[in-house]
Amino acid sequence: MSAEPVPVEAAIGLGGNVGDKRANLDRAIERLAAVPGVRVVARSGYYRTEPWGITEQDWFLNACVVVETTLSASDLLAACLAVETSLGRRRAERWGPRIIDLDILTFGDRTIDKPGLEVPHPRLMERAFVLAPLAELRPDLRVAGVRVADALATVGAGGVERLDWAVPAT
Ligand code: ADP
Ligand code: MG
Repeated sequence: MSAEPVPVEAAIGLGGNVGDKRANLDRAIERLAAVPGVRVVARSGYYRTEPWGITEQDWFLNACVVVETTLSASDLLAACLAVETSLGRRRAERWGPRIIDLDILTFGDRTIDKPGLEVPHPRLMERAFVLAPLAELRPDLRVAGVRVADALATVGAGGVERLDWAVPAT
């Protein structure tokens, strides 16, 4: 009998601002949950956030999920990018409009720094639209020694509004 790999808890941030934002986000989470070796264990509410970087674009809908996975971080990233592509994302301008974006925020307590994969996500601790949904699920998680809830308090939740939409069960 071969030992099963021990699952790792990873946080994934999602966002999009093109088309039916809610449907795209829901579908992305459904498709992620359908990937063998990925189990969604917690799901945040929906957050309406002002665009960042390029500000002349529509508002974003953001959320976060926590998954338990037996995949490697690279395979989890490949799964995230496949979900983006399956929903019709075409890569264009950085920080520009997108149907859906899935970013690996954390992967256990691992630090990964290779071309195409940086974990924890390098801009996680300065972005309220990522921190607010993550703090809803894992306020006490520490990233580089800092509690997520503390990082959110430091950055402030300006421009980020939690919507009162019912959250589907995971
Ligand atoms: P962004 O998410 O920064 O707006 P993209 O979604 O276009 O930009 O991602 C560009 C690339 O970022 C991806 O192809 C992926 O290889 C790389 N990348 C590096 N680290 C991560 C991470 N932690 N999560 C998701 N993508 C990452
Ligand atoms: Mg991305």
